Amino acid sequence: AGRLDTEKIRLDFPILQRVLRSGSQLVYLDSAATTQKPLQVLDAERDFYLQHNAAVHRGAHQLAEEATEAYEAARESIAAFIGAREDEVVFTKNATEGINLVAYALGNGGRIKAGDKIVVTEMEHHANLVPWQELARRTGAKLEWFPLTDDGRLDLETIDDLLTDDTALVALTHQSNVLGTLNPVGLIAERAHQVGALVLVDAAQSVPHRPVDVSRLGVDFLAFSGHKMLGPSGIGVLWGRQELLADLPPFLTGGSMIEIVTMEHSTYLPPPQRFEAGVPMTAQAVGLGAAVEYLNALGMERVMQHESELTAKALELLGQIPGVRIVGPPELRDRGATVAFTVDGIHPHDVGQVLDEHGVAVRVGHHCARPIVQRYQIPATTRASFYVYNTTDEVEALADGVRAAQKFFG
Ligand code: PMP
Repeated sequence: AGRLDTEKIRLDFPILQRVLRSGSQLVYLDSAATTQKPLQVLDAERDFYLQHNAAVHRGAHQLAEEATEAYEAARESIAAFIGAREDEVVFTKNATEGINLVAYALGNGGRIKAGDKIVVTEMEHHANLVPWQELARRTGAKLEWFPLTDDGRLDLETIDDLLTDDTALVALTHQSNVLGTLNPVGLIAERAHQVGALVLVDAAQSVPHRPVDVSRLGVDFLAFSGHKMLGPSGIGVLWGRQELLADLPPFLTGGSMIEIVTMEHSTYLPPPQRFEAGVPMTAQAVGLGAAVEYLNALGMERVMQHESELTAKALELLGQIPGVRIVGPPELRDRGATVAFTVDGIHPHDVGQVLDEHGVAVRVGHHCARPIVQRYQIPATTRASFYVYNTTDEVEALADGVRAAQKFFG
């Protein structure tokens, strides 16, 4: 398959050349929060506004036609990228909105009702937890969850108790944004379907990093964000099985999603239009289409391999530093390119500050998954995350920075 040419890739990301206040060049290890954008994505958005800008799906003029074509071509690229049909790809603002869309539609459509069980996991990002808490509150459904093992995996021993005839939905993350854990989504989906439950996957940390094919994954809904995969902010994707989407009522209502409107009532277009009320995030969709083409050119197998090498290096180098504790599964094959850790005796915010002085950008805190830090009784963690433009030298800079923090605070 060959390897990624990071030196060449980095030329597409001018921001990586920035020299910061500290005098250090940027070492960007925060791609799990948001990724940097290549020139190809920025150019695609700019070209859209410079040459083709118009409101899509309306207007009898040439620009409206071109804008619609560009928007739908992006949908086509993204559908192919995840192995989906085009009419199964709904553009949203981000993963959060996609998950909320499903939560509202399932509740309003009566698919989830009082007494039903909604099953999540203890490692969810708040985006895949709070919408289900709210749905449970609105409908009278019960919320239950897979607990975690000490080494950061789902405790599957509880599966028979969790997946029962009254389970209506299982919502889980494909890859944890804190622990890095890759979850056995296919296996859980199979068991969930046996009891008639629907399965939603939060793919915000998987679709950007590894090949994901919804035609083989065996789930019902999947949500992700463009800004975590080289695309612009303000655009995300909800994928859903055609027959399920066709059965769901809309989330937001208004223009662009209706068929016939009278003063008394309205009928709605089929998916995906039913779920895209108003003028959509057109340039952002075009930008995400360009991001997907960029990733296709790199090859997702190679992207995954590259990140795996960086993760191995990080586990090795951080593992050699006394006092550093890595959270999540110890085995490389069970995790993605996210390494969160604590340093004995030093608060994560202080670690982050020393790293920042070395130009190393990481995230510190609970990473929007507060139940995880409660589960492991740690105040917070420092999280490094890797992507296509990162190098092993940058992983070394991370380890050097952690040692400098120990020297400074020790
Ligand atoms: N789920 C996971 C696993 C995430 O890592 C994130 C972003 N940190 C989200 C959901 C939410 O993504 P967004 O804020 O783009 O909606």
